[in-house]
Amino acid sequence: MSSQENGQVYGRVALIGLGLIASSMFWAMKRAGLAGEVTGYARSEETRATARKIGLCDRVCDSARDAVKDADLVVLCVPVGAMGPVMEEIAPVLKPGATVSDVGSVKRHVIEAVQPHIPEGVHFVPAHPLAGTEHSGPESGFAELFDNRWSLLVPVEGTDPAATARLRALWEGMGANVDEMDADHHDLVLAVTSHTPHLIAYTMVGVADDLRRVTDSEVIKYSAAGFRDFTRIAASDPTMWRDVFLTNKDATLEILGRFTEELFALQRAIRTGDGAHLHDYFTRTRAIRRGIIEAGQDTDAPDFGRVQKK
Ligand code: NAP
Repeated sequence: MSSQENGQVYGRVALIGLGLIASSMFWAMKRAGLAGEVTGYARSEETRATARKIGLCDRVCDSARDAVKDADLVVLCVPVGAMGPVMEEIAPVLKPGATVSDVGSVKRHVIEAVQPHIPEGVHFVPAHPLAGTEHSGPESGFAELFDNRWSLLVPVEGTDPAATARLRALWEGMGANVDEMDADHHDLVLAVTSHTPHLIAYTMVGVADDLRRVTDSEVIKYSAAGFRDFTRIAASDPTMWRDVFLTNKDATLEILGRFTEELFALQRAIRTGDGAHLHDYFTRTRAIRRGIIEAGQDTDAPDFGRVQKK
């Protein structure tokens, strides 16, 4: 029976890097029976041992080359800066007709780093699931991570549409909504929706940390409201985010420039007592929040739907 006939999208899938995204993919693939066998590889013995202990992947291999041998789909789930070297290492043993994809948060850089190593007869379909948490590592994944979230496919020029369609079926099977986007547009959109907000959160938490020396523990004690969300975002993996800013430089600097201009305008409105400016601005931003909730991408439940600790 072929993979497609029994509900499987791929016979064998290899996950390279076994952190939050790879482990969530594994559990989501298992939940829906999307792959015959899933192999996995992580560079450290410690992560491989943890993966074996918790049953993450059907088979954990001690080398990336072993993991990708005979795979129909290989997904690179390592930090953006590591994608090129990993691809170079696995290239010689890829099966003809296989597809290589990735989940990196930046797309132009990944394409430039990975594509030169893609062998003749192997497809390359970059992707980016817009879902995550501030947690990392093999134990942080869960099957529901991608449910009702967007996953963006960024096929490179000349990609076989059948390879893209098959990857789309996998992401849809894992619960995601799928769209296709050009790499540069992706990087600009993500600079607005994810990368620059992370930088702002890192900055705000850094400022509060400086303040804490002055005000003792008040910053932590009274951080129940908005600041707590900043601290959650600022707890994200330092390696991943270092790589995001180093590889999505232009778009992030462009958005950061605009952000700084707006911040100065608000600063001026506060200094000059221009309440109308502040009110108009906040009315506009409130409408954006409503739009996000109406699109089903967040909840307006009290405290953002968090379960309250007694
Ligand atoms: P993670 O939980 O930190 O796991 C990263 C994995 O990559 C680990 O298995 C790690 O191996 C391996 N790794 C780290 N540096 C490496 C290197 N230099 N060479 C080879 N392997 C290396 O990361 P993640 O959150 O799953 O993120 C993986 C990718 O998904 C990144 O490209 C990120 O941009 C993207 N992404 C993340 C999110 C998010 O919210 N976290 C959302 C969407 C996309 P060891 O454990 O052995 O160190």
